[in-house]
Amino acid sequence: MTRPMPSVDALESGIVAGDRAMIGRALTLVESTLGTHRERARELLRRLAPRTGKALRVGVTGVPGVGKSTFIDALGSHLVAAGMKVAVLAVDPSSERSGGSVLGDKTRMTRLANEPNAFVRPSPTRGTLGGVAARTREAMSVLEAAGFGVVLVETVGVGQSETAVRQLTDTFVLLALAGAGDELQGIKRGVMEVADIVAVTKADGDNARRAERAAAQLRTALHLMHPDGDGRGWHPPVMAMSSTAGRGVTELWASVIGHREHLERSGRLSEARGEQLRHWLWTLVEEGLREIVEARMPSLRTLEESVTQGTTPVDLAAATIIDTLSRESKTRD
Ligand code: GDP
Repeated sequence: MTRPMPSVDALESGIVAGDRAMIGRALTLVESTLGTHRERARELLRRLAPRTGKALRVGVTGVPGVGKSTFIDALGSHLVAAGMKVAVLAVDPSSERSGGSVLGDKTRMTRLANEPNAFVRPSPTRGTLGGVAARTREAMSVLEAAGFGVVLVETVGVGQSETAVRQLTDTFVLLALAGAGDELQGIKRGVMEVADIVAVTKADGDNARRAERAAAQLRTALHLMHPDGDGRGWHPPVMAMSSTAGRGVTELWASVIGHREHLERSGRLSEARGEQLRHWLWTLVEEGLREIVEARMPSLRTLEESVTQGTTPVDLAAATIIDTLSRESKTRD
């Protein structure tokens, strides 16, 4: 049975007081697709807005198995021990297609999940990538208003999700694995371009030297690719790290702080936050338009099907949808 959702007043005061149960309910509210819930979520977010925006927002990406959750568990536990409040959110594009998820279905971050000053939330499972990212962004606002000073957003390094998470966070950490020949595995050039910090994982035991060599090679390659770094004085550091041996984890955090200072000093932080808001605006508009199309166009599924079958060209189908929508809005005026 679903429990009735507390009032916006109750949620707001619960969140501000750091009440975990209320935070959990508020996250359920912002993830809900029910119309009445969306309205209340918007009202709640509007009220929380003045309390948001102060956290360190850090994206963590890498292929499945690279060691993301082990790293976040180790880093988060370290930060909590140092007196910080740490939230972990996930953006998992696999959940849209398969209904299952790469990030959510195993027992993850066991140490951190049991910490009273940590909050670990799996990826919303419904909606488009843009929709999932928008919900994650709203969850981030709730957690920031609840006093979480660090928000780690985890995503699988398989394609577009990095771009979505890049738009949610200020500092982007890429985790990579050294392969058998010291080369790096599972790094797409596009991902490399957006990384602010790179760490070669599992630098322990027999793998330590290999990870160090891979990190050194990558450092050289990055320098050749971008001799000016980000053009404002930041050269993405490349380090070898082991979450299980506790090697390099605090150094990586020092780099996150260094990057944050760089963003503030160079004026890039306020620019980036502005870009994030603009991106969020368009994500919400696109999502809203999609909902309108789905609600108002009974022939949508048939049209989609004929695109899938190859009988209707994509551009024609898209034009048909947009025409229908604009005719609809004209008749309403
Ligand atoms: P994710 O899929 O990227 O979240 O990866 P996980 O954190 O689940 O790690 C995948 C596997 O690598 C697990 O078996 C971990 O125990 C192992 N692993 C993660 N970090 C390290 C590390 O620093 N050293 C070693 N030796 N193994 C690690």
